[in-house]
Amino acid sequence: KLILAIESSCDETSVAVIEDGAKILSNIVASQVKSHQRFGGVVPEVASRHHVEEITLCIEDALVEANVKPSDLSGVGVTYGPGLVGALLIGISAAKAFSWAHDLPLIPVNHMAGHIYAAHFVEPLQFPLMALLVSGGHTELVYMKETGSFEIIGETRDDAAGEAYDKVGRVLGLTYPSGKEIDELAHLGQDTYHFPRAMIKEDNYDFSFSGLKSSFINTVHNAEQRGEELRVKDLAASFQASVMDVLVDKTIRACKEYPIKQLVMAGGVAANKGLRERLSSEVAKELPEVTFIVPPLKLCGDNAAMIGAAAFVEAEKGHFADYGLNADPSLSFMTI
Ligand code: ATP
Ligand code: MG
Ligand code: FE
Repeated sequence: KLILAIESSCDETSVAVIEDGAKILSNIVASQVKSHQRFGGVVPEVASRHHVEEITLCIEDALVEANVKPSDLSGVGVTYGPGLVGALLIGISAAKAFSWAHDLPLIPVNHMAGHIYAAHFVEPLQFPLMALLVSGGHTELVYMKETGSFEIIGETRDDAAGEAYDKVGRVLGLTYPSGKEIDELAHLGQDTYHFPRAMIKEDNYDFSFSGLKSSFINTVHNAEQRGEELRVKDLAASFQASVMDVLVDKTIRACKEYPIKQLVMAGGVAANKGLRERLSSEVAKELPEVTFIVPPLKLCGDNAAMIGAAAFVEAEKGHFADYGLNADPSLSFMTI
């Protein structure tokens, strides 16, 4: 079964053709990141306008690259939340139009479920599993008892991990988004600043990154005021060490408490080299019976391939939408 998948929740317009939820025939990603860089973050209105310009081109490219005709398809999957409402609406409108024109069922997909299903391209997902979702807008531990069931067992109380990377990057004068650059700098420095590890001792699976961010900003401002030179690589290494410590500690703890077969790490921050190495070695050491899966780098950031994988699962369960489908900017999993 071939699914055309559409993703437009933030600043990537992406369209993919996926076979049986597991094989990528095409995955076109048009990033607008350059248009937002001078603002230091995604400007919703600018994002919507770019999606309008790109969406039909991406659909054409995805079909051509996959060598597929609309009549070969069995459904259209689309992200309907969470994300920017205007951006989401462009993808949803395009999906509805395509679905109507070619008489194909419309499959609504949760963007965060999509991030998890990106791991399905590496290895078939097996349940129960735990997912550490780390992205620009989310940081959560999600327990999936079975396919299609998502329970948030812990989440950030303030900033998302990716958001924290981007904010401290801004303080260092780095280009937005700065996660990748901080990751690279971190590998050249050392944890000499010893920032706090928020909530690490607390008996829950929640996170907090705003204190770390403040501590980082204060350190930089104080050094500047005293005319001290900033050890940028050490700052990056110290920041990353704090983020990794809390994410890895709580994730391993959660994996020990729940009867899981796999641990998936997904979302834009899952591209982090330090985090991939740390979590993978901790799982091997502490949880030898658990398989750790993390998507390849290009499937960690926003893309439609992951939406296609999640759409396939929804379609198999008979979850379809009618043309009343609306964007849900704050769509969330169940919290327990
Ligand atoms: P959400 O998925 O929560 O709706 P989003 O779609 O905007 O948010 P993603 O595209 O999944 O977020 O991830 C983008 C984030 O990933 C940015 O904050 C970026 O800085 C971060 N990021 C990318 N690469 C790395 C890296 N190597 N290390 C740390 N962070 C990274
Ligand atoms: Mg993005
Ligand atoms: Fe995302």
